[in-house]
Amino acid sequence: MLKIDIPGFQELIIKKVVFDYNGTLALKGKIQPEILAKLKKLADLFEVYIVTADTYGTVRQSFTGSSVRVKVISGSQGRQEKERFVKDLNSNEVLAVGNGKNDAAMLQEAALGIAVLEGEGMAAELYRSADLICPGIAEVFELLDNPRGLKASLRG
Ligand SMILES: [Mg+2]
Repeated sequence: MLKIDIPGFQELIIKKVVFDYNGTLALKGKIQPEILAKLKKLADLFEVYIVTADTYGTVRQSFTGSSVRVKVISGSQGRQEKERFVKDLNSNEVLAVGNGKNDAAMLQEAALGIAVLEGEGMAAELYRSADLICPGIAEVFELLDNPRGLKASLRG
């Protein structure tokens, strides 16, 4: 859990982290070992979910036996399914992280939405629906390790 009071934003009590997979955690369908390790470590502190259309069909096997939970959604209704997934987890306890156009609604719905600009780019729509944009996924893990950076960036 992460509890942080951000003046002019809101008091955040984050218990769940929802990640998009392709373009967010993985590039060309592959997740780097250090990102995989950080993700599994994060699952000691939060409920961690990956919500993905699983374009490459590799996601479930990457997380077999770990406490990271994988939710595979259909390709066609991705935006609505991701938003619904966050709502069902109780949006105000959720940090959502994504890079794609179909992540826009879940980033907006979550208490905190972070967009990442990784090697596969970030949909321009996320400039408006995210609370924060990070240069890459490693920086998101850094902010979760040291949330004072979050406070500094989000205070009004
Ligand atoms: Mg993506």
